[in-house]
Amino acid sequence: MASELVSSQVVDSALRSALTQFEAAADRLGLDPGLRAVLRAPKRELIVNFPVEMDDGHIEVFTGYRVQHNLARGPAKGGIRYHPRVSLDEVRALAMWMTWKCAVVRLPYGGAKGGVVCDPKRLSQRELERLTRRYATEISPLIGPDSDIPAPDVNTGPQTMAWIMDTYSMHHGYSIPAVVTGKPLSIGGSEGRPEATGRGVTYCVREAARRLDIPLQGARVAIQGFGNVAEYAARLLHAQGARIIAVSDSRGGAFAPNGLNPADVARFKQETGSVVGAPHSRRISNAELLELECEVLVPAALESVITEENAPRVRARIVAEGANGPTTPEADRILHERGVLVVPDILCNAGGVTVSYFEWVQDRDAFFWTAEEIYSRLERVMVSAFADVWRMSEQHGVDLRLAALMLAVSRVAEATLTRGIYP
Ligand code: NAD
Repeated sequence: MASELVSSQVVDSALRSALTQFEAAADRLGLDPGLRAVLRAPKRELIVNFPVEMDDGHIEVFTGYRVQHNLARGPAKGGIRYHPRVSLDEVRALAMWMTWKCAVVRLPYGGAKGGVVCDPKRLSQRELERLTRRYATEISPLIGPDSDIPAPDVNTGPQTMAWIMDTYSMHHGYSIPAVVTGKPLSIGGSEGRPEATGRGVTYCVREAARRLDIPLQGARVAIQGFGNVAEYAARLLHAQGARIIAVSDSRGGAFAPNGLNPADVARFKQETGSVVGAPHSRRISNAELLELECEVLVPAALESVITEENAPRVRARIVAEGANGPTTPEADRILHERGVLVVPDILCNAGGVTVSYFEWVQDRDAFFWTAEEIYSRLERVMVSAFADVWRMSEQHGVDLRLAALMLAVSRVAEATLTRGIYP
């Protein structure tokens, strides 16, 4: 899991990017000023300060957030992030992106996000469990299977979700698995959830490459990161014949012009703690990775890594955004002008929330699907969303980001207007 994912400068930049993107879509749609104000503002923001007893007996107070951006299309959905530099602004940006993401892939959800300001690397497993159970209790006025369903994000995973599910269930006196997604299989998790985001990225790369007449067989792919999203994207693209020429982590990157085997890199990282120095590779920096000559670049680690400074030097033909918010609005403009096709985050990494939705549906039905059913349903959702966004982009002569946002914002606007303004 990543620890250096967010710097405070990047945080401000995330909210700035989210708001700039929204305004561009609202302008293009000619959105009524009142409706624009409704869709721009987060609906609910909860700040919690709560004590946790540490292993040595002393007490520390932690700050956490849960932001529900918009609920017009259904209950709120979004991950929980543990990181020292989590802030309310960052959570607001991520919650807004969740609203649009769910709308792009037509899930019956609104958007939310949560976070706790902490450094998980410095906490023991028992401390993490107490922190998670107390945070879950503090945000329990908001969360629930019909109201707001958390999921993993940076530095949280299936075990975190298991603790939240158990805490919430203890409060109610019976098991309520549908309160979170991304759980272990043994307590109502779904087949295919761990690799869902990477799999969705792979479908988007395939669809984009097909439209640009780039054969996936032999295509050079550079991937920033080697966490959940990046590693599965690397494995699945490799399995389709693409050449994974670089991957990275916070310590740097591994570059091999003839291609890396992601399974070997994963083994090497497990043994050494990093991808740097993987067999038959040369060390490069993260900055160099982003500027490699390749067919496909997949930023799958950090926010705001492609900026107006380095965008003129990006040499990929397709940028497939595995991470949330990796490209700033200024960089977007430069890439568009240079003919680089950017598959935007709210489409490209929507495979994760889509399989989270499948998990929630299975939990509510208490009836579970096979991995094959999950994959084929995911593929159908992603391919159809990609086609919708592509069509919108052609109809309006805009890039895929603006097209995806216009599609999402118009769907949320329609739901808001159809429901009416209460009272
Ligand atoms: P993760 O914690 O599993 O992995 C993050 C990766 O980034 C790690 O390989 C880490 O080494 C690398 N990293 C950290 N600092 C770096 C630096 N300075 N330079 C280069 N690499 C660095 O996280 P994840 O779940 O893979 O999430 C990655 C991104 O994808 C985030 O933006 C997240 O919000 C987004 N995302 C994740 C999911 C999901 O289902 N996990 C879904 C949608 C979007």
